[in-house]
Amino acid sequence: MKANDSITFTSKILVSMVAGIIVGVLINALFIQNAFVNDFLVDGLFHVFGTVFIALLKMMVVPLVFVSLVCGVASLGDIAALGRVGAKTIGLYLLTTAVAITIALVLATAFGPGKGFELSGEVVEYQAREAPAFTQVIIDMIPANPFMAMAEGQMLQVIFFALMFGIALTLAGENGQRVLDIFTDLNEVIMKMVFMVIRVAPIGVFCLLAKTFSLQGIYILIPLLGYVIVVVIALLCHLLGTFTLLLRFIARVNPITFISKMRAPMAFAFSTSSSGATIPITLSAVETRLGVRNSVASFTVPLGATINMDGTAIMQGVATVFIANVYGIDLGISQFLTVILTATLASIGTAAVPSAGLIMLTMVLSQVGLPIEGIALIFGIDRIIDMLRTAVNVAGDGTVTCVVARSEGALDKTIFDEPKAGMIVKP
Ligand code: ASP
Repeated sequence: MKANDSITFTSKILVSMVAGIIVGVLINALFIQNAFVNDFLVDGLFHVFGTVFIALLKMMVVPLVFVSLVCGVASLGDIAALGRVGAKTIGLYLLTTAVAITIALVLATAFGPGKGFELSGEVVEYQAREAPAFTQVIIDMIPANPFMAMAEGQMLQVIFFALMFGIALTLAGENGQRVLDIFTDLNEVIMKMVFMVIRVAPIGVFCLLAKTFSLQGIYILIPLLGYVIVVVIALLCHLLGTFTLLLRFIARVNPITFISKMRAPMAFAFSTSSSGATIPITLSAVETRLGVRNSVASFTVPLGATINMDGTAIMQGVATVFIANVYGIDLGISQFLTVILTATLASIGTAAVPSAGLIMLTMVLSQVGLPIEGIALIFGIDRIIDMLRTAVNVAGDGTVTCVVARSEGALDKTIFDEPKAGMIVKP
């Protein structure tokens, strides 16, 4: 497939997305009582093809991250460079998340969603998540058994093992080189598999969205429109403000080109609501479309999918203010600071899977003494918000990847600027 075809292919995915949403909304509005439509389409075709598609994506994540990161570290060549890239990446991930939540808190305070909201009598019990001790987070990063870490998809542990393995390869001289050659070939093979999965994306994306919107409809958003609007505005501010500024002034690249070339990973993130499942697509887009060298991208992308959740932090900030308003509780400045700190740290511990952010919201709410049951108010619409925030999570990973790569001389500006560069699907 040629570069031109790949652009058509991205458009195809976008068309599938729109078609999936329209079909889902129509089914929800007109045919949701119809047993045939429900059993055969929604719980049948859409469910099976959508789930198979996500499973295919997830299937690729661990092998791809491991092999690609080993190659990346080995090609970085020296440990000092690895430390530098690591420090910059983690620093930027934390910083962008803190900025995201600050934007959310400022906007939510200004718009005041939830004021005058009528509480129904229904009470749902929630268990607050305990914040894990920092020491435990460090200990948990080291896999006692790397195979178990891979089997369980423990990304931080897989990343740690791959980093050490990659460093050892470079230190092992000729023997290391021989193993590296195998890994380099393996990387190509796995990328081919990723492209095979991408080929079925239009069907997968259509089925996922058609199913979600058949079950959800969009009218459930109406009673919570204030909350939804503030979340959407905050997500847009972060996407078009924070990311644009970082790309324009720090990475010195064109933010419009960035967004246009990140359309595919953002569309996948939107459809799957999982930045983890989107890793293969993000990695392929930043390398082939944006020109980021594998030595940086193979580290920043999986790490970002695991610890960087700007969209999630935005939802948590707006939700906190919304719930405080509904219950008529005033939040002081120290509570706002607690929210910023907790939500930033919570985003590290948020699994890159659907609805994980909502679970971590319990931690934020309990830190500032808000009723955890408040989550019940936004639970019903979270599926749709999750799609939007996951797209922003993935855009954040791409932004930091470009900034770090540029500062390391690992971003090929010619590829970045060439509209047709990089094929999403190779022959
Ligand atoms: N679905 C999000 C992600 O995978 C996490 C969340 O906010 O629930 O990035």
